[in-house]
Amino acid sequence: MPPLLITRFAPSPTGHLHLGHAYSAILAHETARVAGGRFILRLEDIDQSRCLAPYSDAIIDDLRWLGLEWDGPVRRQSQHFGDYQSALDQLAEKGLLYPCFCTRKDIAAEIARAPTAPHGPEGALYPGLCKALSHAEAESRIASGEAYALRLDSEAAIRASGGPGALAFHDEEGCRHIAHPEELGDVVLARKDVPTSYHLAVTVDDAIQNISHVIRGEDLRHATHIHRLLQALLDLPTPIYQTHALLTDERGRRLAKRDKAQTLQSLRQEGWTPDDVRAAIKRLSGGFARG
Ligand code: GLU
Repeated sequence: MPPLLITRFAPSPTGHLHLGHAYSAILAHETARVAGGRFILRLEDIDQSRCLAPYSDAIIDDLRWLGLEWDGPVRRQSQHFGDYQSALDQLAEKGLLYPCFCTRKDIAAEIARAPTAPHGPEGALYPGLCKALSHAEAESRIASGEAYALRLDSEAAIRASGGPGALAFHDEEGCRHIAHPEELGDVVLARKDVPTSYHLAVTVDDAIQNISHVIRGEDLRHATHIHRLLQALLDLPTPIYQTHALLTDERGRRLAKRDKAQTLQSLRQEGWTPDDVRAAIKRLSGGFARG
């Protein structure tokens, strides 16, 4: 028997779902159902200041309205900080994390000061200010109560996982992609205010939940490179990664949570049916196209 196909939809309850989210959810749901697999719902609610219960409730309500039943219980990341801590401990043991005390302002000032600072597809990379701190200085700043994030030492991490170009992942068509985690640099794995980060929690959860196919918008294409590196470091399996094109409005602008008019809630209030949502996605995406 082929292994069970397991997909997931993993929204952050920081706002209402819009058509773009519905696209990801419908694709993941259909992929699982066609293969006789499982479709899982995960709420990525690590940021407790921005993730609000009414948004979680609305997500669940919207998915039910769309007819997308999920299998098993909903995983809420905020209830699993211990899992992310274990992963951080493993990375710390390998010497791959360092504390970062920088504020956004510090980072912006350093990037402005050193215009040759490395850039990746998502903008300037962390310029490494705190990587240069001595162990003693970092320890004394921690002891004095200064807030800090934990960053991945990406150079050391890439070395530890076989060197540049050693890691790859596959898409749903079987194409092999070399992972380039260096393009995102020293990402944050535990935030100052939250004891994990998107990259760490999503990687750990995809493994814990045995996700075989990650299906998400192409805005997260680059994130996959970091997730692949974390899988190598934490000895976790690598799912198949499928990205889909992002939906845009009539003016070619990406749909966003701030775009109230496009939320499923407001479309429902206007009288849209689930079939109207499916038809609109088909029209805006050119027919459930890949990214
Ligand atoms: N929680 C992420 C978001 O809402 C998606 C995570 C993922 O699909 O990997 O953008």
